[in-house]
Amino acid sequence: MIVEFDPTPEQEQFRAVVRDFAEGEIAPNAAAWDRDHVFPVDAVRAMGKLGLFGLPFPEEYGGGGADYLTYCIAIEEIARADASMAITLEAGVSLGAAPFFYSGTEEQKQEYLVPMIAGEVLGAFGLTEAEAGSDAGATRTRATLDESTSEWVIDGQKTFITNSGTEITKCVTITARTAPNEITNIVVDSGTTGFVVQPPYRKMGWHASDTHELVFDGCRVPEDHVLGVRGEGFKTFLRILDDGRIAIAALALGMASACLDASVAYANQRQAFGGPIGRYQSIAFKCADMAVAVENARNLVYKAAWLREQGRPIREAAAMAKLYASEIAVDATREAVQIHGGYGYIDETLVSRFYRDAKILEIGEGTSEIQRLILARGLGLPVE
Ligand SMILES: Cc1cc2nc3c(=O)[nH]c(=O)nc-3n(C[C@H](O)[C@H](O)[C@H](O)COP(=O)(O)OP(=O)(O)OC[C@H]3O[C@@H](n4cnc5c(N)ncnc54)[C@H](O)[C@@H]3O)c2cc1C
Repeated sequence: MIVEFDPTPEQEQFRAVVRDFAEGEIAPNAAAWDRDHVFPVDAVRAMGKLGLFGLPFPEEYGGGGADYLTYCIAIEEIARADASMAITLEAGVSLGAAPFFYSGTEEQKQEYLVPMIAGEVLGAFGLTEAEAGSDAGATRTRATLDESTSEWVIDGQKTFITNSGTEITKCVTITARTAPNEITNIVVDSGTTGFVVQPPYRKMGWHASDTHELVFDGCRVPEDHVLGVRGEGFKTFLRILDDGRIAIAALALGMASACLDASVAYANQRQAFGGPIGRYQSIAFKCADMAVAVENARNLVYKAAWLREQGRPIREAAAMAKLYASEIAVDATREAVQIHGGYGYIDETLVSRFYRDAKILEIGEGTSEIQRLILARGLGLPVE
């Protein structure tokens, strides 16, 4: 039996193109964007021009028609330079565009998906609420159909929504309760009366990523702004999250591999007590452990992407990849800071920014505890 672990030559060529772009257009600016909490709209448009927002979508909508691993490689490479830009891409594709691809009518695809794929506009996905995060089924936001005007009237609130308030955000797809036991996805266009985007959060990391609380106060949207089948909002977002977790895991992998490279370079270059610090086992072995973790994460992420490409079930594989890659990314950033000593604690140092940027990976798109819950249930355990 032949087991193939190498990405194809085309995937490797594509990786080189994205790495060049990330090193040339993103890496030199990332520290300043982080310091100034800037959402770099021109760089996002440049990712669009490179075709990154359309990678996993068919060519008939302007997409790249690429396999899922190619999309993951793009996120991995962008994340090696800047996690904020990588999450802008991941959320734009997996949370913004994918719901339209899976569930949109042809008209919705033309209106929303096509410009999202071109990277001209962004979409966001609003699931989390103040009282409904991991327990997303506890959604309180309500949408009531006003039959006299054929409009949904939306009241409620969403917390921590990525890409929801940028100057190129076209819409937010929200989950809303349309009957006591019914959750539906509804598209709310930016600028709709009664839809208020609160000022951006001040966050520990991901300073160049756009995150807002959203308030819906008697917000009216046309009846045909339902995305997919009424009442199937829960099913849709579970599918979206499964896919998204592979992509988030790729983001974590990129961060960890960048920390490994930065740590090895620094351990070879930094002199102490008459030689490079890499000659001390305590430093060298941290790098060795990091290399094992990065390799394991890459195998989990690429395998999950491959399973998805085969049309095989991915829930557990995605949860494993997300859980493992995000936890080793947090570990890798912590060890990388340690290897860099005091310089690792200074804001402009790459590993310092990565240390702050990594923590959210254990929280967003399902916490580590929720991934363990999925895996334990998959093992047949009666865990709550
Ligand atoms: C920067 C950022 C960007 C985000 N972007 C988006 C976005 O674009 N769209 C969106 O909808 N959401 C987004 N989120 C929200 C994110 O997905 C949630 O924060 C996350 O799912 C956790 O929900 P919570 O914050 O309510 O925590 P809670 O669910 O309240 O969890 C608190 C703690 O309890 C634990 N816990 C909860 N339930 C269980 C359980 N059953 N078993 C064991 N432990 C449990 C959790 O693991 C966690 O440790 C974003 C969050 C951040 C910070």
